[in-house]
Amino acid sequence: MELRPRSFAGQLKADQLNSLIDALLDQGYRVIAPVKRDAAITLAEIRTSESLPQGWGDEQQPGSFRLTDRGDTEYFGFAVGAGSFKQYLFPSRRKLLDIDRHDMSMTKVEDTEKPLAFLGARACDLDAIAIQDRVFMGSDFVDPFYAKRRNECIIIAVNCHRPSSTCFCTDAGKGPECRSGFDVALTEVGVDDDHRFLVETGSEKGTALVNNLDLEATTEADDAARQEIIDRAVAAMQPALPDTDIPALLKAATESPRWESIAERCLNCANCTLSCPTCFCSGIEDVTDLDGTHAERWQTWSSCFTMDHSYIHGGSIRRIGASRYRQWLTHKMSFWVDQFGMSGCTGCGRCVTWCPVGIDIREELRGFAGDALEATTNEEATA
Ligand code: SF4
Ligand code: SF4
Repeated sequence: MELRPRSFAGQLKADQLNSLIDALLDQGYRVIAPVKRDAAITLAEIRTSESLPQGWGDEQQPGSFRLTDRGDTEYFGFAVGAGSFKQYLFPSRRKLLDIDRHDMSMTKVEDTEKPLAFLGARACDLDAIAIQDRVFMGSDFVDPFYAKRRNECIIIAVNCHRPSSTCFCTDAGKGPECRSGFDVALTEVGVDDDHRFLVETGSEKGTALVNNLDLEATTEADDAARQEIIDRAVAAMQPALPDTDIPALLKAATESPRWESIAERCLNCANCTLSCPTCFCSGIEDVTDLDGTHAERWQTWSSCFTMDHSYIHGGSIRRIGASRYRQWLTHKMSFWVDQFGMSGCTGCGRCVTWCPVGIDIREELRGFAGDALEATTNEEATA
């Protein structure tokens, strides 16, 4: 891969990572970062670098996530975990209104959360946030809750250097190199006494943050060290998606028997949509207390894998699993492009890892492409 000269703001010794976290805390941010929890890596609020999964890696396969204890000093030596930053910008459950019958009041619930700092976002996370920005803020109909949190947040990205076997950001997204969408980007290099982070800035907010840190100058060799890490991550990912026009492929496959074959394995559990960092559907629930004096309106994540999701007067439109999986995959990889001008998939691989029966979006797309090729070959043979 071509070596692109970087403009490093400097380098931060790994044992001074807390100075970055302290700077974020001092500026009033709530710092969200990867942590090890329940035999997996997920996201949580942290106040110190000791909470990061230092020395831990991951092995991901369709339907499987395993932590590996490398025992080294790397802070970010793993791919993406179960959760995504979506859950902070677009929470899975959020109260919208309080309604009180005594004083006939209806009170909108305001967001009182501190500004968020996302530490450890990968290129696929940046891509996913850009996709959700398009959905929630990219039209005349802006979601004010999302927009407030998004505009207030700061993103400290980390270049991925150990992608998992379920990652395919090189094919589907814009990874593994963090190129845009961050305020600060770190590249973790070296070990032991040489363990450090190369620091780049992507915004004025990011520059103001790192100006408060005691950064050391980078050397000429650091460009190459950074590039080597990106190249290693690219090389670790195999081509995953069929080399074809995927939106057109899926539009032509609406009647394919392959949907039934997927549905025979699919549990309709909705894990794929819940773990996906770009899925954005939600529903509204109203609840009241037992005497009917107080009511609340809540927004909750929804999934195209539930019957309720397609319920309109008279029943659900998508009654069978085949139609629900078809809706998910076709929207994500085809109609999303028509709707938003971009694919809904970043290649993060979460839906592959966290599908309990190991349904693999890459394998299914290759299957549809193979079916299309076979149909074309048959047509030409009989012409
Ligand atoms: S569809 Fe799967 S691979 Fe693509 S962004 Fe969603 S979870 Fe990641
Ligand atoms: S995670 Fe797997 S089993 Fe669950 S709904 Fe998605 S494709 Fe089906």
